[in-house]
Amino acid sequence: KGEADPFVRQVIDAACERLLRARTELDAADQHVGDGDLGSALARGARAWLDDPAEGDAASLLQELSARCRRAIGGTSGPLYGMLLLRAAQALADGASWGDALRAGVTGVRELGGAQPGDGTMVDALEPAADAADSGIDAVVTAAREGAARTSDAVATKGRASYLGERAKGYEDPGATAVVMWLEAVREAMSQ
Ligand code: ADP
Ligand code: MG
Ligand code: MG
Repeated sequence: KGEADPFVRQVIDAACERLLRARTELDAADQHVGDGDLGSALARGARAWLDDPAEGDAASLLQELSARCRRAIGGTSGPLYGMLLLRAAQALADGASWGDALRAGVTGVRELGGAQPGDGTMVDALEPAADAADSGIDAVVTAAREGAARTSDAVATKGRASYLGERAKGYEDPGATAVVMWLEAVREAMSQ
């Protein structure tokens, strides 16, 4: 295990604080295409971290965050975020770059959830973000934003929005919106 990484810890804190603030907005967004609980679910994960943030190196921080998210978020997003963070933690522990860690996490999400880019899920924000990772955090945020925006034109084929078919059109997928929000918070925390 490496030394404690207070910088990564602060970046995680910032992402969690952003999701806490977004609770009402994301619940409302999930009401259009799902069951209206995404904001509350992600806020439970954020709380599970912020109430007692862990210390440690980057890999152990993400591993701990993964375990807490899996337990606290539940629903569909809990296992998916658990997997995203666990695979990223494992990659970092093996010496991977942040970009490769993000790519490993997204691959885990795709394996677990079976969603491809274009299916109208958080993968539509995550996958382009991971593809842009080598170009820096600004490119990551832009790619995620564009990917999330595309979910409002597409008919979702995974998750609850798929039950609505054409009726979910015009609404951005809330899971993709949430990814953009926490990536923006990561960028802001990195610039401080
Ligand atoms: P639910 O309330 O339906 O259990 P959540 O509210 O926790 O789900 O999460 C909804 C979000 O999860 C969606 O907006 C979408 O981004 C994402 N999602 C749903 N199904 C999948 C999937 N198979 N793969 C990846 N992401 C998915
Ligand atoms: Mg929901
Ligand atoms: Mg639900």
